[in-house]
Amino acid sequence: MTIKAQRGNQLRTKGWRQEAILRLLENVLENAEDPDNLIVYGALGKAARDWSSYEAIVESLKTIEEDESLIIQSGKPIGILKTHPDAPLVIMANSNLVGKWATSENFYDLYDKNLIAWGGLTAGDWQYIGSQGVIQGTYEIFKSISRLYFSDDLSGRLILTAGMGGMGGSQPLAAKMAGANIIVVDVNEDNIDKRLSIGYVDKKTDSLDQALSWIDDAKRKGENVSIAVIGNAATVYQDILDRGIVPDIVSDQTAAHDLLYGYVPEGYSLEEVIQVRQSNPKKLESDAGASIAKEVRAILSFQNKGAKVFDNGNNIRTQAKRFGVENAFDIPIFTEAFLRPLFERAIGPFRWIALSGDPKDIHIIDDYLLEHFSDNTIITDWIKLARKYVPFQGLPARIGWLGHEERTQLALAVNDLVAEGVLSAPVAFTRDHLDAGAMAHPNIMTENLKDGSDAIADWPLLNAMLAASSKADLVAIHSGGGGYTGYMQSAGITVVADGTREASERVQLSITNDTSLGVLRYADAGYEASLDEIEQKRIRRVHL
Ligand code: NAD
Repeated sequence: MTIKAQRGNQLRTKGWRQEAILRLLENVLENAEDPDNLIVYGALGKAARDWSSYEAIVESLKTIEEDESLIIQSGKPIGILKTHPDAPLVIMANSNLVGKWATSENFYDLYDKNLIAWGGLTAGDWQYIGSQGVIQGTYEIFKSISRLYFSDDLSGRLILTAGMGGMGGSQPLAAKMAGANIIVVDVNEDNIDKRLSIGYVDKKTDSLDQALSWIDDAKRKGENVSIAVIGNAATVYQDILDRGIVPDIVSDQTAAHDLLYGYVPEGYSLEEVIQVRQSNPKKLESDAGASIAKEVRAILSFQNKGAKVFDNGNNIRTQAKRFGVENAFDIPIFTEAFLRPLFERAIGPFRWIALSGDPKDIHIIDDYLLEHFSDNTIITDWIKLARKYVPFQGLPARIGWLGHEERTQLALAVNDLVAEGVLSAPVAFTRDHLDAGAMAHPNIMTENLKDGSDAIADWPLLNAMLAASSKADLVAIHSGGGGYTGYMQSAGITVVADGTREASERVQLSITNDTSLGVLRYADAGYEASLDEIEQKRIRRVHL
């Protein structure tokens, strides 16, 4: 079934809030990696439990009143209950299992019985905006490495990584924006072709020799090039190592978190993966684990030879350690190594989606940011680059890393622009789960926190309750799935700027309280920058 998000000003629902959420659901499927199976990204990240759930959700959003809330359990609609006009229109919980039961085995068992679905971070709560959703994060990582180790100049440098899927597909474009050469390895040529067709990567080849000669050409000409190599990362990384080549930066963004659905073992075709998953899942898991171990050993060797390496949030180190690579955690996690100073001030990924479908609306918001945030170079540099390089996918949207008060300022201004008719329709704001107060993931977001509070899941749960108390339009609580099971707890929120006075209050409360909690969370863990932010912006912290 082909789903495309509705554009324009015609409503199919009882108000813009409901229409906005319906369009966001359609939009994640318009941008999905495998829409026929409702899979949006991240190997198994689903928009709805199954097609009958999808249809029932659509019907519910069409009929739901302003003072009702739709309840979703792991992608399945459960009921519509009377609440009040300030309550979220949708609340959901995806893939949460009780502590001791949160194992991969239990998850797959419940998944096979169609009792649970994994929502990823932005699939299940209808926030996904295509590969661009993660692109500024990847760009900021490359820029941070560049500033720390390469005198802020990546020209002539080589990045080696893998994974051209929904999220990983952003890597070649992010590298290009940061001024580096990049090789991205992927076993699935169709996924490479998708990124080629939208201009996220320059070239593809199945020959490493060819890829390396294109890199040499680019270096000679003082240009930079992005190349997708069709192959298995475990094989290609070792091959590069054996040739004595040491890339400057090495990572991986295959869906290594999931050994059954996410990582293709060396020597397997894509068809064989499907066959062995059915006939002998244990063998598939152990073969995937062995290949990950081989790949991670190669990454560690690159690190020993001077490459800057990092885990890009796919749990590859955890899997490698399970399969015998004792020192896998010598590879740092990107959040701790490169982005934590931003999260300490609650600066993180924030998105806005033009529900009109008109790119002009996004360009007007770009102009607003360039004019009113001119002293914030993180956002203005990014907007200039995004305008030049990032094509829209689905409903036109942007991601921008903004912090406390900045997000509120932008969303309130956009709400005014909707009210004044400058923007042609309402705009939805979504806050990804990977955010200061919204995620406990001891191997990604919260690894090695100053006070050791890495695994405490109270924060995302508080975050979701606070968002629901602060008039957000959609609030979601997510946990594991596949190999992620039990590894994390997170929360996501969406709020719709429909130009009304009520929307401005919803924006003011939900977005401000969201970033306030992020700053308070890091302050509680002892980060100086958060304490400074609290003082400067007068966030009310309770002192003991
Ligand atoms: P995806 O399932 O859409 O794509 C994974 C890609 O990896 C596929 O194209 C697949 O062919 C390729 N692949 C699998 N095994 C391979 C191998 N051995 N060699 C080469 N290629 C191989 O997944 P995605 O949405 O791109 O997400 C990738 C990972 O990034 C996931 O683990 C996801 O959870 C994680 N993630 C991290 C962040 C972050 O903030 N850093 C954000 C979102 C997702």
